[in-house]
Parts: sequence; structure tokens; C-alpha cells
Amino acid sequence: MTKTLLFLGVVFLTQMTCVAQQNVITIYEKNFLLGKINYESDNRFVKISDVYSGKVGTAMYLLEPTYEAFVNMSNAAKKEGVSLKIVSAGRNFQMQKGIWERKWNARRANFKSDEETALDILKFSSMPGTSRHHWGTDLDINSVDPAYFQSGKGKKELEWLELNAGKFGFCKTYNDKALQGRTGYSEEDWHWSFLPLSIGIMKQYTDAIELSDITGFLGSNTATKLNIIDVYVEGIATECTTLPLDYLFQDK
Ligand SMILES: [Zn+2]
Repeated sequence: MTKTLLFLGVVFLTQMTCVAQQNVITIYEKNFLLGKINYESDNRFVKISDVYSGKVGTAMYLLEPTYEAFVNMSNAAKKEGVSLKIVSAGRNFQMQKGIWERKWNARRANFKSDEETALDILKFSSMPGTSRHHWGTDLDINSVDPAYFQSGKGKKELEWLELNAGKFGFCKTYNDKALQGRTGYSEEDWHWSFLPLSIGIMKQYTDAIELSDITGFLGSNTATKLNIIDVYVEGIATECTTLPLDYLFQDK
């Protein structure tokens, strides 16, 4: 009996190690980590079908395993009467630069300094070169309006995700900041990360990327002063730093 349990334990641990290894052996180049890629021509990415898009008509891309996991999750949710659609997926450096600079130009005059302007934008938006959306591992589901998830349909969808997303490898990256003393962005009920890929990519990012790499857009001079990598890139929910147990131990 003890021997059998020991054997099963070894098999179990070996499988866990294999799962973990699968996710760290892919080496991503520095340009990938900074979002300096073209999703259309990069064959690591796949285009999202209209069936799973909340923005039909806008081309959106994810790394293939992220997309497959989302499709499985969305199909499972649908069986329980919950609709999950992607409203934002891979966003490269240029796309993030467009979002950031539009906000920068609209807000700069309202603040005394570059730092104050950046901090205001950083409540919900990343500096180009620091967004998890660059990696094709992270996506926004159904709405990016905080109020949407507070009641009715949105609340039901969020409850479903909080209960089930872990089984599919997804984690809500930006939880309530007060819960764990997390730094960085405000809570985002819509932003989910595919951990089997993003944990390894995050490790490669923090190993390879320096503050001096965060450059090439209006206000990039604030990246160092605001310690953007430690405070924002690393400011994620604790539970998003390891694979969910219900993902590891499910029947595949
Ligand atoms: Zn997002």
C-alpha cells in the first residue's frame, strides 16, 4: 500500500514537472517580450474567430495555446448559459503606444508633472513595452468597464470565471490591491492571463528586460523614476505566480 502510494506520488510529481517544463523551454526573444512583433506574420499567433470575439471586425491574435484554452473555457461556460467573448487580446508595442500617447496628449496639461500624468494613465493602462497583452497570453473578457461586472449579467460572468477559470489555466491578474498589498494597476475584473505560458514569459521578461529598454514613446522618461517593472509588471495577484491546482490535477 505504502509502496503503491509512493509510486503514484512519484508519477504525479513527474507529470507535474513535465507540465512545468513544457512551459519554460520556449525561449522568447527580447523583441517579443517588449511587444515588438507583428502578430499577422508571426506564426506563433493565431487569429481569433468571430465566434469568440466581442469585437467582430477587429483582427485579434493570441498565442495558439492561449486561444485553445480560451475556446475550451468559453465552450464550457456556454453550456452553463454564460457567454465569454474576447474584447482585447494581443496588443503589440505600436498598438500600446497608440493607446498610451492618446491618453498622454489628452491628460498632460491637467497635471503638474510627467510623473503625475503617467501615474494617472497607469491606473488602467500599461506603458508600451510593459504590457502583458504584448505576449499573447493575456486577454480581456466581455467588457473593460468596472461597472459592468458589478451587477446582472456581468456579475454572473465574473462569478463563473472566478469559480472555473483556474481549471483552464486562467487567472485574474489584477485583483483587489488591498487583498495582498499588490502594487501597480487598479483591479481589472476583465483581464485574465493564461498561466501555463505567462508564468515562464514573465520570468524571462524580468530576467532580460531593464528599465532602459522601456523607451520610444511620450513620457517614457518616467519609467525609471516610477520603477515600472517592479511596481507594475510584477504587481500581479499572488495566485497568478503558480499554476492553479485545479488545472494541474484535472483529467485531461
Ligand atoms: Zn487587459
